[in-house]
Amino acid sequence: MNLAEKICCAIRDSGYGIEAETGEKFAEYLRFLTEYNRSVNLTAITDEDGIILKHFVDSLSALPYTDCCAEVLDLGSGAGFPGVPMKLVRPDIRLTALDSSGKKCAFLRALTARIGVGAEILEGRAEETGRGTRRASFDVVVTRAVAELRVLAELGLPLLKTGGKLIAYKGRPDLEEIAAGDRAASALGGLAAELVRTATGPEARTLVIYSKTGETPSKYPRRYARITGDPI
Ligand code: SAH
Repeated sequence: MNLAEKICCAIRDSGYGIEAETGEKFAEYLRFLTEYNRSVNLTAITDEDGIILKHFVDSLSALPYTDCCAEVLDLGSGAGFPGVPMKLVRPDIRLTALDSSGKKCAFLRALTARIGVGAEILEGRAEETGRGTRRASFDVVVTRAVAELRVLAELGLPLLKTGGKLIAYKGRPDLEEIAAGDRAASALGGLAAELVRTATGPEARTLVIYSKTGETPSKYPRRYARITGDPI
């Protein structure tokens, strides 16, 4: 079995349909990431199985909660997770990958050109993007390994349309983190979190989902130092 077939099997085992041609794109993604990672630190996971399961398969966890043709923002995309695997498996979504790091964005631009995946790469900070023209313009914001929940709520909810969802990929968030996230969400136009345990991938994965039901007050998001230092 070659690499593309192996990736297709892993993705199908987790319940998603994938064409052979998309498997080739994932294989190229893995090779390009591995090669690029030798000079620019993008991921601590470097073995083939780790990349397939902990990056590719894990990234797909939010797909069942992402409607057809949704405008999706990957907040703090890094090496493309979870947004790029989501887009490869579900080409109907419109993906924007946001990252504050120029190096990460350079990688994302090179990657998307190389494997032929349509995505907008946006270099910037989420709290600044959330005060600009992209405020209230996404149906879904996904985010993995970026910050604690209350910070994610303030970074992510302003970017959502009313009716949209912020989906945070978490391991096992503790009750304190969830309570602080819920407090922040309710001040930002969101509901208390819905927690979904997923069976996708090898590790315990909890998706923490905030639905946006009203507009975010214009004073949010604040500057990053305020967001982290002065909890809502
Ligand atoms: N989501 C990827 C990367 C996680 S590392 C993964 O799961 O593998 C966190 C990334 O978020 C980094 O690339 C960092 O540059 C970016 N980041 C952190 N704070 C940010 C902010 N306020 N706005 C935009 N990007 C941010």
